[in-house]
Amino acid sequence: MISVVGSLNMDLVINTDAIPRPGETVIGTGFKRVPGGKGGNQAASIARLGTKVHMVGAVGKDEMGTALVQSLEKDGVLVDYIAEKEDVPTGIAAIIVEKSGNNAIAVVSGANYELTTEDIENSKSILEDSRILLVQLETPLPVVRKALKAARSYKNLTILNPAPAQTLDQDILADIDILTPNEIELEILSGCPADTRENIHEAGKALLGKGVRELVVTLGAQGCARINEDGIFHYDGYQVDAVDTTAAGDCFNGALAVALSEGKDMEEAIQFALAASAISVTRAGAQTSLPNRKEVDAFIN
Ligand code: ATP
Repeated sequence: MISVVGSLNMDLVINTDAIPRPGETVIGTGFKRVPGGKGGNQAASIARLGTKVHMVGAVGKDEMGTALVQSLEKDGVLVDYIAEKEDVPTGIAAIIVEKSGNNAIAVVSGANYELTTEDIENSKSILEDSRILLVQLETPLPVVRKALKAARSYKNLTILNPAPAQTLDQDILADIDILTPNEIELEILSGCPADTRENIHEAGKALLGKGVRELVVTLGAQGCARINEDGIFHYDGYQVDAVDTTAAGDCFNGALAVALSEGKDMEEAIQFALAASAISVTRAGAQTSLPNRKEVDAFIN
């Protein structure tokens, strides 16, 4: 079993010919409401890939919160530890996507920032039963810290996807078994440039020096790099026709956790994650793009 501690957002996606400038109103060409939030996306990804998963998070007492929870339940995610917070809206992301594919996004964290260390305390029994904890940075840092410490005390493998990018104290870094930044997140976390293979290795080593056990740096279409005390190892991405990379990182993290929870080694787990995330970029949306197990197995074989 895997526990995910993280955010739940409703993505409000508006399509336009061009992103409006300040003061301008444009007429949209389409609108969709899609379940999102890094935590929810990663939990949905895990459930679709066939592994039992508990989501620990928070929504407001409103219709969007109910819809988010129902959508996760439909995917098979266990939702008993999603708290309903009073007097605060469910998290939303307002996303404007223009014809060129460029987007502009504004997020209101809402209930995600009301998740407390007490909520983590209350979910200790599921952390105890899990093999893996997967966490991101869209909830307050004390919650992230508490979840990592609790998971470590139960000998879970801990995976932190450090998005959105920010710096982290050493006491958090030292509780991470696998850190999964993209290049920008790696730069911000390490304070070092991450624009070449050598620089990525150096930046990764700086974080190993602060207690992270290993890193898997996602590199978009280029695949990913694994960095541990033995060195840096590159894994090519699959060549696909990408239409929308939203949630590719979430799919990668969910799939990595699934494969590791099944006892696969890191090499196999990375290959599984590369395949799942490659499928996800061939489809539009966040949770709408996540593949199921059959699709990933068929893609690999
Ligand atoms: P996001 O924030 O959009 O979820 P990210 O920046 O966290 O993404 P990326 O490095 O862009 O993460 O992508 C994660 C993984 O998805 C990559 O390691 C790769 O396996 C896969 N991927 C992303 N883009 C492509 C692509 N164009 N073709 C094939 N695979 C891709």
